[in-house]
Amino acid sequence: MLQYARPLQRLLNALERLPGIGPKNAQRLAFHLLRADEAEVQEFAAALSDLKARIRPCTQCFNYSEGDLCPICADPRREAAAICVVEEASDVMALERSGEYHGLYHVLGGRLSPLSGVGHDEINLDALLERVRGGEVTEVILATSPTVEGDATALEIARLVEQMVAAGELASAPKLTRIALGLPVGGDLDYADGLTLARAMRGRTVVEDG
Ligand SMILES: [Zn+2]
Repeated sequence: MLQYARPLQRLLNALERLPGIGPKNAQRLAFHLLRADEAEVQEFAAALSDLKARIRPCTQCFNYSEGDLCPICADPRREAAAICVVEEASDVMALERSGEYHGLYHVLGGRLSPLSGVGHDEINLDALLERVRGGEVTEVILATSPTVEGDATALEIARLVEQMVAAGELASAPKLTRIALGLPVGGDLDYADGLTLARAMRGRTVVEDG
């Protein structure tokens, strides 16, 4: 039985697919939009359609970007010698909120997970090694999630960089550090508040040769 007018039901279905939005919240949002003036709703719709059409990965760090380079890579005030490696672009936003870090990022787009078929080629790992190889990188900060797979990904990156150093591919060995996350195991960076992440960044430790 159709409970709502069809356009309203369509909007409710779309809203309910969003994370954290249940039927009640979807209804609240939909009714808000119905009551809102035309211009506000048009602006909302335009923002949504622009999102997919105009956002693409930064060609250097894979963060969300409108142009070739994301605003962070394009900012000359950022310390280009430091690369902070994260799993998702949302982690960049989280670390930026901490205000503690002023270097560049590299978004892997996931973490190594052999059991789920996520290997080296499924994440932006080669591009990271290229950046380390090509640039004047003095520190690689491993800020993958405090999960078993996030830890394994961090160690694998450290191993690959050390391999390049051992093979004489780098002019000098970058420092490899891991952020000190006092987060519950399994937690994502995204859930941590700015203060926790600032502390994690300040307390980062050198990755020991394994
Ligand atoms: Zn970028």
